[in-house]
Amino acid sequence: MKQLVLASGNAGKLKELAALLAPLGIEVLPQSAFNVSEAEEPHPSFIENAIAKARHAARATGLPALADDSGLCVDVLGGAPGVLSARFAGEPKSDQRNNALLLERLAGETNRRARFYCALALVRHADDPQPLIACGEWHGQILDTPRGQEGFGYDPLFLVTELEQTAAEIPSELKNMLSHRGNAFRQLLDKLRAEAA
Ligand code: IMP
Repeated sequence: MKQLVLASGNAGKLKELAALLAPLGIEVLPQSAFNVSEAEEPHPSFIENAIAKARHAARATGLPALADDSGLCVDVLGGAPGVLSARFAGEPKSDQRNNALLLERLAGETNRRARFYCALALVRHADDPQPLIACGEWHGQILDTPRGQEGFGYDPLFLVTELEQTAAEIPSELKNMLSHRGNAFRQLLDKLRAEAA
């Protein structure tokens, strides 16, 4: 595998992935370079949506494709906002309104346990029967009030219990070491290296 399409329009993810995959000699291309339409994400789990997005990009480009799907799952909310994390408070997407809704749903609740979850799926071609899959989790607690300016999404409400800091209060390098996405990426890299060996 020499080239890989990233099934995401996110410039930050593209940069991060390109750096991770460069040592393996894999060039990462954005799906925007191929005018790939936005994939449907109709499934109830992250992994199903990640596979659907990867297949969609592979079908449209004829190249291997990597997709990720991630979000926040809160125990007492039965895993919500889950796959709806980006649009929890409806359209247009707004981190501020999502966070406000989360606090509203957790008002008076003492069980604040939550986790971020990231699923990655890599298909070598659109109908690949053996996609490479990697999933990562990051456990923490949801605070009552936001703290910190770093990161994005639900980071200001997500307390990394052992650090007593939120995901928005720690530097991005530390977040990458600890986070659901960092863990999933490292696992995927291991699988790619094993394949190349
Ligand atoms: P996406 O898979 O990158 O589109 O992320 C889905 C949504 O989950 C984001 O819009 C955020 O609301 C939430 N999310 C995923 N990862 C993180 C994270 O690392 N920090 C905060 N929020 C996240």
